[in-house]
Amino acid sequence: MGGVIDYLLTSLVVISLILAGANYLAYRLFERPRHALMWSVSFGLVALQYLLNLARDLLPAPAFYWQSANMVSFALVLFAVWGHRERLQLHTDWRLLLAAYTLLSVTSAAVTLWDPVISIRTALAPGFTFLAMTHIALALVRSSREPRLAQLVAAVIHQLFGLTQGLAAAIALNLDSGSRDFMYQLYSMVNFGLMPTLFIALGISVIFLLATDLAGRLNTMSLTDSLTGLNNRRGFMVATEGLWARCRRSNKPLTLLLADIDYFKRINDRYGHAMGDRALQHFARILRESVRLEDALGRIGGEEFAVTLGEMTSAEAESIAARFRAALRRQPMRYGSLELDLRASFGIAEWQEKDDIASLLKRADIALYDAKASGRDAVIVAGERSLVGMASNG
Ligand code: GH3
Ligand code: MG
Ligand code: MG
Repeated sequence: MGGVIDYLLTSLVVISLILAGANYLAYRLFERPRHALMWSVSFGLVALQYLLNLARDLLPAPAFYWQSANMVSFALVLFAVWGHRERLQLHTDWRLLLAAYTLLSVTSAAVTLWDPVISIRTALAPGFTFLAMTHIALALVRSSREPRLAQLVAAVIHQLFGLTQGLAAAIALNLDSGSRDFMYQLYSMVNFGLMPTLFIALGISVIFLLATDLAGRLNTMSLTDSLTGLNNRRGFMVATEGLWARCRRSNKPLTLLLADIDYFKRINDRYGHAMGDRALQHFARILRESVRLEDALGRIGGEEFAVTLGEMTSAEAESIAARFRAALRRQPMRYGSLELDLRASFGIAEWQEKDDIASLLKRADIALYDAKASGRDAVIVAGERSLVGMASNG
């Protein structure tokens, strides 16, 4: 029997090391999320714990085994909790963790030296693990972080693992009551059957969390313009489709506003491409401050920006454009001693029954072209073909 258990323990050492390595790799490859490093340490300590278990006969005394195994166990659980809290952006005071660790270790030492009920020393680590896993599961369920499904699965697995630990603790406390053989059998079944299985599931769920986080970040990146932080063309289209569907359903107006910086090429030619980039960032910042958070905003071309204004008519969009132009005049771009006045031309189109997004964009684009043709620094509303803005500010 000892032989079989030794094989199992050896497998668990290897599996823990694989999980520690996978988490460390994730830390190195996925832009160094600190929680992956904490989980790596945690799984490394799991390996150490199984190794201690495997080598317990070689250790000088049972008390030595229990105390060291418990101390490793407390540390690995605290690192797991810390990692999850870090990932969920919950503040954790490391001094509190250290205090908990010290308290648990001292308690363990006390009950190892003087164990009034035969097995408090055995129940201490699984009991604490049960509480910690429950904490992790609750934090995962409460978090609004996406994707919800991966977090719910991880929460369920952590809670099941915690319950198994709680069961092990309860059995340990009752080892000498009732039928001793039955209790020992139950204890073995939980410890060497249920627990390793759920431990592997837990390891996979953690790796899965890291993978889905990465997928989420890549998805965000693929929709974001890295220069300005606004949506890129794809992100803008996705956001616009959402707004468009909502406004159609509730029969509300929707207006598209295009803005193209005037004579932008000159800035590049005169001051260099880096200054052009700064001008784009400056323009993007003022534009973002001029619209509402719920509007879809993006850089859809080199120096061309677009805003989809939900529940707004073209007349309201004109006042947004006016507000933005005023802000642009108030805030020239400054860099060192250089002061650059940026101007732009605007095309506005309000959604009509026959429009899809492509035709709406097309009509706004034609209006923008008209604004350029009219001499730039102007706002044109599609369909009206009237000049707005030219007169408003000389
Ligand atoms: P117009 O008034 O007709 O809009 O003239 P314009 O010079 O603004 O427009 P044009 O389309 O002729 O030139 C756009 C320039 O924008 C050309 C391109 O080099 C520059 N550009 C495009 N993307 C970037 C970028 O990311 N950074 C910088 N610095 N320049 C860019
Ligand atoms: Mg331009
Ligand atoms: Mg352009």
